[in-house]
Amino acid sequence: MDPFTVRLNLHGDLDFFVRSGARGRPIERSLSEKTSVKDVIESCGVPHPEIDLILINEQPVDFDYAIASDADIELYPVAITDLTFTYKRLQASTFNRFAADGHLGRLTRNLRLLGFDVAYDPRAEDRQLLGIMERENRALLTRDRRLLMHAVVKTGYCPRSQNADEQTVEVIRRFDLLGSIIPFTRCLRCNAPLRKVSKSEIIERLEPLTKIYYEQFRRCTGCGQIYWPGSHFSKLQKRLEQIRANFAD
Ligand SMILES: [Zn+2]
Repeated sequence: MDPFTVRLNLHGDLDFFVRSGARGRPIERSLSEKTSVKDVIESCGVPHPEIDLILINEQPVDFDYAIASDADIELYPVAITDLTFTYKRLQASTFNRFAADGHLGRLTRNLRLLGFDVAYDPRAEDRQLLGIMERENRALLTRDRRLLMHAVVKTGYCPRSQNADEQTVEVIRRFDLLGSIIPFTRCLRCNAPLRKVSKSEIIERLEPLTKIYYEQFRRCTGCGQIYWPGSHFSKLQKRLEQIRANFAD
């Protein structure tokens, strides 16, 4: 087979995955055998779950489309603002169950605070993380691009920021979660739902001042942790308001 050349144009914020010196211009690759468009894209450093639309010679294609001759490839992320394409997209636009990798503990806490279901175990190995993602149909959250490129990953996202609050805003945007926020309904420690509990049921476990000053309690249905609107609650409320402020127009 004669060698041929493919040119990739990255739209939106996809050039985040390209080293800074190579941004803002097409990426060229020389190939000498039939190659799936997915393999070409990932060889350039962009994980497939970040790609929502692939156009080759202006036609939309799937990840397994095989390229065998010169081609211009246009790649679009999920958040396409500059286009009005109605083509079928490659990614789920909304998702509310996640598996976060062990480096995203603060993001995990934020998402749980907002009521979202996030599986997280800082000791889990990659294999275990991918296992829970698959078994429980969760979207993968990780800044490890290699992991996001794994063939079993269908839905996932690489937070661009290293700051947990900014990451939280990114995830809400990417998965269209703004309307699904139900704060203080999930345990920050173990991810299980919280249930209202009467003071009399748990009074034995409260500190003397808590007994006096608080009337409303919730208990984790998983680990039994008790939550009430105390000082940590107002701190959480403040963080929640900061996150929400990002969406005010
Ligand atoms: Zn718990």
